[in-house]
Amino acid sequence: MSDTIEPTAAEVVIIGAGPVGIFQIFELGLLGIHAHIIDSLIQVGGQCTELYPEKPIYDIPALPICGAQELIDRLLEQTKPFNATYHLGQEVTEVKPLTDGKLLVVTSTGTRLLAGAVVIAAGVGSFQPRRLALPGIEEFEGRSVHYRVKAAADFHGRDLVICGGGDSALDWTVALCEKARSLTLVHRRAEFRAAPATVARMRELVTAGRMQLVEGHAVAVQAEHAAGANKLTGLVLQTNDGKSTLQVAADQVLAFFGLHPKLGPIAEWGLELEKKALKVDTEKFQTSVPGIYAIGDINTYPGKKKLILSGFHEAALAAFAIQHHLYPEKRQFLQYTTTSPIMQKRLGVAGTDTP
Ligand SMILES: Cc1cc2nc3c(=O)[nH]c(=O)nc-3n(C[C@H](O)[C@H](O)[C@H](O)COP(=O)(O)OP(=O)(O)OC[C@H]3O[C@@H](n4cnc5c(N)ncnc54)[C@H](O)[C@@H]3O)c2cc1C
Repeated sequence: MSDTIEPTAAEVVIIGAGPVGIFQIFELGLLGIHAHIIDSLIQVGGQCTELYPEKPIYDIPALPICGAQELIDRLLEQTKPFNATYHLGQEVTEVKPLTDGKLLVVTSTGTRLLAGAVVIAAGVGSFQPRRLALPGIEEFEGRSVHYRVKAAADFHGRDLVICGGGDSALDWTVALCEKARSLTLVHRRAEFRAAPATVARMRELVTAGRMQLVEGHAVAVQAEHAAGANKLTGLVLQTNDGKSTLQVAADQVLAFFGLHPKLGPIAEWGLELEKKALKVDTEKFQTSVPGIYAIGDINTYPGKKKLILSGFHEAALAAFAIQHHLYPEKRQFLQYTTTSPIMQKRLGVAGTDTP
């Protein structure tokens, strides 16, 4: 992507749309500061949405029990009045301090923002798909081996192998079975971690002879050389009993083994790290670079606890520090949302006072 494109001006850029990054929108918004927020995933919610959406959380103040996805939905509702700009499905690859004190933020899809301040709320890092660990797989990744579906039509009329046993693997098996030329589902275990109705539908398709199910795992790729490139033709599978291998036709493979977090590019931005976490002070939650703050699971300081509650507190204090960083001349004073007309105006609740 050309770096001659003028970057878009942003008051604050938040990296990471987990619970803590989303709450940062709110705390900045109360102080009249607008935020852009970026996440490498195509949906917001961080660990809550990605790892445990259905699990109940019991230690959010005033919510005795709250589902993890419900918490994210509530946070989105709470931050709505502040109209943050979302950039999803793009990883922040670069954060560069400029001589005028501004920060250039660049993403993997070419978004360029010129920020007054940056808040890193990147949790345990950006989530990356677990890859199919087979010799020589790299040359087929992105062409014939995929870790997510960009366009379902790409798999129509193809010899498709789907690996995995969770919701993504089962949902796509059922969705693509009638469209693919052949479909093989490969899973290490007899049990699936997917919606029972989808598993039942998949078993019906096996019984009807529309697809095959193999309990085992892939051990090798098969390819042929054609038109100057290697073309994937099949996978060699090892069955779970360990006694037999079989070859299945495959010109397309979808592997859904879940995601794992990776600190990724953050480690290269020249910020002081301690055990893969960003060192911050406990007054401003600023990193070793002025104007770059870090909150939530990504930071470390004496006594740090990786809890959502701690991240919320950090977001509140970081917002005041950011306001001072951006507008040092502005007098700061604490206002309550219950009584502050200006905050109520920002929240869109002005004039709804009850006696
Ligand atoms: C099973 C489980 C149960 C839990 N239960 C509780 C509980 O009961 N109570 C509690 O307080 N905590 C709990 N936690 C911990 C809690 O989920 C975390 O503390 C919380 O998610 C941290 O929020 P965060 O916003 O800092 O980071 P995350 O939720 O990790 O979100 C970070 C986001 O940043 C994005 N990101 C990272 N790097 C980049 C980049 N370079 N570019 C773009 N995006 C990037 C990631 O994709 C991710 O979406 C639990 C965790 C797990 C795994």
